[in-house]
Amino acid sequence: MDAGSSKDHYLAPYAVTSTNSRGRRYEEALGTSRSEFQRDRDRIIHCAAFRRLEYKTQVFVNHEGDHFRTRLTHSLEVSQIARSIARSLSLNEDLAEAIALAHDLGHTPFGHAGQDALNECMSAYGGFEHNLQSLRVVDQLEAKYADFPGLNLTFETREGVLKHCSRRNARQLGDVGERFLNKQQPGLEAQLTNLADEIAYNNHDVEDGLRAGMITIAQLCETRLFSDKHAEVVGKYPDLDERRMIHEINRRMISHLVSDLVQTSAARITELNPKDIDSVRNHSRPLVGFSESTAAQSQELKSFLREAVYRHYRVHRMSAKARRVIRELFREFLGDVQLLPTDYQQQAVAAREVDGDTGQARVIADYIAGMTDRYAILHYERLFNPGQLT
Ligand code: MG
Repeated sequence: MDAGSSKDHYLAPYAVTSTNSRGRRYEEALGTSRSEFQRDRDRIIHCAAFRRLEYKTQVFVNHEGDHFRTRLTHSLEVSQIARSIARSLSLNEDLAEAIALAHDLGHTPFGHAGQDALNECMSAYGGFEHNLQSLRVVDQLEAKYADFPGLNLTFETREGVLKHCSRRNARQLGDVGERFLNKQQPGLEAQLTNLADEIAYNNHDVEDGLRAGMITIAQLCETRLFSDKHAEVVGKYPDLDERRMIHEINRRMISHLVSDLVQTSAARITELNPKDIDSVRNHSRPLVGFSESTAAQSQELKSFLREAVYRHYRVHRMSAKARRVIRELFREFLGDVQLLPTDYQQQAVAAREVDGDTGQARVIADYIAGMTDRYAILHYERLFNPGQLT
């Protein structure tokens, strides 16, 4: 009953498979021992942008402590959750894994503050958006293969990476932009990985927020999802120490969200009974999703975190500083491209010839977006601290 090739595990007829894949931008012979999506995953893991995720902020800056999530550990958690969901729904686990590992490759240093600052800097040059940048990393910026630019990933992995896109940008993107213009859905693996991202960050930010002392258990008990699981854990283990209690609550919240997602999505899939992936793509709305009550609970937790953690003065203070670093770096490089390393200078000159100021600004944005937090800080020191002479 295998609808995929022998290298894909059992897959439902509406799953993406190595055989129904829309393929790669530059044609390559099919892999002999790995599925096409295992090859994608391996190319992502071996790329430099993936390694740099280790030193990029998720919410808490890297040097605040070794226990907080970074973009790398966040991506690994998303991948683990996405793989479980994919497997439960007989969808392509390898594809979900590849999308999850690549989804944040284009993130700037310093989390969302960095992305917002770079977007402002680029406002006269087409803006900056981390989803689009992730696609740019895998399509163009990772220059390491002899036969093609970028990682030459499959259409389906690239489609999953591009979660959102404006119509203006979609028109310039060709194949992966089409669904935003035609109001189509992405494959189910892309749909589920998007929600695995939400499950991962809501839950790990609860744990990190508690660890950082920005939120308390009492505050969290004002949200339904947390308070339900808190009551369950305290009822069963009244004497549990706090660290274990938090973990027990967290794992139950993740299980609850994942099983609700799997059940709700399975029911919607059964109802539509899609015979192939085109039926999924042409459906009026996504098939993967939470039940109404669980979606509301997840939203409630998200809103709580936005107010209590993301707008906490300590996070805000870090964000303000981060924005300053990004803005000043951009302004200096734009004013004098000779401050850029030689290879970027050459790229900036070449891009200027084709695209004028916009081309040059894009190269600077690529350079800054690729920086880790600590590299951005080091660069800032080198440019602005008179005591730093190297
Ligand atoms: Mg993410």
